[in-house]
Amino acid sequence: MEDTTDMGQTQKYIFVTGGVLSGVGKGITAASIGAVLQAKGVAVSVQKCDPYLNVDAGLLNPAEHGECFVTRDGAETDLDLGHYERFLDIETTQKSATLSGRLLSELIADERAGKFGGKTVQLVPHLTQSIQKAIVAAGKGSDIHIVEIGGTVGDYEGLSFIEAIRELGQKVGRANCLFVHVVYVPFIGTSKEFKTKPAQNALNDLRGFGIVPDAVVVRTDDPAPANVAKKISLFGGVPEDNVLLMPNADTVYRIPLILARSGVNKLLSDFSERDNEPDLTKWKKLIRAQAATYAKTVTVGLVAKYMDNEDTYISVLEALKAAAWHEKVGLKVQWINAETATAKDFKQVDALLVPGGFGARGIEGKVAAARYALDHNVPYLGICLGLQVAVIAAARKAGLKNANSTEFAADTTENVVYIMDGQAGKESTGGTLRLGDYPAVLTKGSKLATVYGTTDIVERHRHRYEVNQAFTEAIVKGGLAISGTSPNGKLVEFIEAPACDYFVATQAHPEFRSRPSRAHPLFVGLIHAIRDK
Ligand code: GLN
Repeated sequence: MEDTTDMGQTQKYIFVTGGVLSGVGKGITAASIGAVLQAKGVAVSVQKCDPYLNVDAGLLNPAEHGECFVTRDGAETDLDLGHYERFLDIETTQKSATLSGRLLSELIADERAGKFGGKTVQLVPHLTQSIQKAIVAAGKGSDIHIVEIGGTVGDYEGLSFIEAIRELGQKVGRANCLFVHVVYVPFIGTSKEFKTKPAQNALNDLRGFGIVPDAVVVRTDDPAPANVAKKISLFGGVPEDNVLLMPNADTVYRIPLILARSGVNKLLSDFSERDNEPDLTKWKKLIRAQAATYAKTVTVGLVAKYMDNEDTYISVLEALKAAAWHEKVGLKVQWINAETATAKDFKQVDALLVPGGFGARGIEGKVAAARYALDHNVPYLGICLGLQVAVIAAARKAGLKNANSTEFAADTTENVVYIMDGQAGKESTGGTLRLGDYPAVLTKGSKLATVYGTTDIVERHRHRYEVNQAFTEAIVKGGLAISGTSPNGKLVEFIEAPACDYFVATQAHPEFRSRPSRAHPLFVGLIHAIRDK
């Protein structure tokens, strides 16, 4: 079959794969490699390929998979894209996330449309070519395109991706691609040794698919001795300088610094043809901010439904940290279980944050948190659902006892949060949300306009329900002001409580636009409001 993959301009690729087990930091490694290259002045782009049969990450359970990250053009993706955006200060797009489910559904649609002229449609070469096309398209415009392959090499479902990148390497020439394999080396407590066997096997697996990696990143819990690198170098056929021992770091933002100090820096210099030293000032500053001891520590209560996995709210937590560094205070995040929360829990924190969420579980605890903040002038930041519960709390305060969102009380006539026309009936299906960047206009003179320093806003969205402006009077009577709407005024985007020092909420997800060294104004505002209290 004819290969129509357009290789575009001379593009270089770095492929990051994983062995032994997943979840040991491929994403952070890929992002950190990008950060070092960027610090040398290379234009990088990144992409995550996930072998799942899901079409996107929108319907994945965040308790299992971590947060669903949303790109500016509305892709619902895996949280690794958040790492990429925070590390590289870029905005990823639909093209940055490639899932088998999406590619397969497109292939099958093409088959049904008769586009294959009677030929058999197969994983190789059809799916593999789709993968290559997706990679080439996502990399256009950058000097080096970094592609992370999800899962572990050898996984049945990931084989097409491994074959695709092997072929792509062959097509663009071995000098134009770098293969980096991230493996895990366990420490056996009883015999007190690091065991490299699983890593050796993982390297054999990769070689079995025709890929000899250029570098191996060896993840360990604690620092491993140099002979671990020697062994992996010898058995893996990778020069010792390119075997990087990477024990758990105190902060992920240290990884670019570790990489830049290792032999991999030379490899990256040769590959990118830039032998200037990377400018790592930004990373050094971040590490210092994180390691500093501050005179004051503030406590933010995160009113959450998922209590046992930090990944579920990772962008919110990173945005809070960035704001605390900006405001030069220590930060403690107090998790408050929305299902059992009472005033006693709210009393113990300096500020309350209600993050985004779907479904009725824990909703009354979130409404109570907003009400408590409103009544007691406790700084409050409401994100998406956090705005909706604030509106419900205000409407109830104004006397609408049954005020609710139709998401939680389908039949309430006091539907202060409701579903827009055209969306009804699609509540449990994928792809019917308001997703990605939307503009908003803030009221001149509002607190939010001061916090943002402008009235023209763009933020990312991921929600289905909207504030019902038929109830504006009650919402205002309950203590809130609608201080930002869509440019045509139809959608409520921001609210604030004029009587409180800092009670703000947005229908959007500002956490996705926060960066470690460029904290988001809404989070800075929250930390600032409690810093001097
Ligand atoms: N469940 C709410 C909605 O669909 C809020 C979503 C969110 O917080 N991201 O509108």
